[in-house]
Amino acid sequence: MSTKTNIKTEKSNELYKLLSIVYDDLLNIYTGYNIFREWMKTPFIIDDFAYATDAHMLMKVPKKLTNVTKEANKNTRESIKYLFDNIQLPLNIKINVAELEKQINTIPLVNEYSDIDIKGNCNECDGDSTVRWEYKDYREYFDCPKCNGQGRIEEKHRRKTGKKIKNKNHLFKIDGMLFLEKYINNLVKVAKKLDEKEIVIISKMQSSMMVKIKDAEILLISKIPTENDIVVFHYA
Ligand SMILES: [Zn+2]
Repeated sequence: MSTKTNIKTEKSNELYKLLSIVYDDLLNIYTGYNIFREWMKTPFIIDDFAYATDAHMLMKVPKKLTNVTKEANKNTRESIKYLFDNIQLPLNIKINVAELEKQINTIPLVNEYSDIDIKGNCNECDGDSTVRWEYKDYREYFDCPKCNGQGRIEEKHRRKTGKKIKNKNHLFKIDGMLFLEKYINNLVKVAKKLDEKEIVIISKMQSSMMVKIKDAEILLISKIPTENDIVVFHYA
């Protein structure tokens, strides 16, 4: 190998090393602790991609851009593979990151409780009393385990964290689907870290959409509409 090639390889290795630190950090935004699904706590590998999910959002990044080594088990592989096989409608909606950030900043701050939203609705099920699980064409609803299917948590049982947060009734509507501010805020974080000015919605399925930011693809599950919704940003 010539000296020239050596330098080039070293430079490209160095670049991959830097990128992998960035993408490892971003994947960790999308992991989630879940008492029912231990495997979501850390990112995992399926074939040529690394994934991270909290059951509401999912990030997919080429494996070579990360340091993730944990291989997904068979069940995880099947659930994840389905999500990507079944994406139906291709889209090409570009949204300006600065505009999203501006809209996020218009949302008022409220007391944070660790288990409910501003209306007293359970955070886990968004007050729907049920939680949904999708697999292939199957969709099942279970009583929410956090509020025992009540949808609400009584004031005296609520846990205040002492922090102020964005009002969770304020939502983003994109191509007819509603998304929580937290999801959009994460997209802004990812875009800024990757130095991208725009995010691109590349496809949608029945209750979710796929966003591309540089080499990362991010799947967001939409929120079921309620009468308390306030739409702060409406796109298409
Ligand atoms: Zn609940």
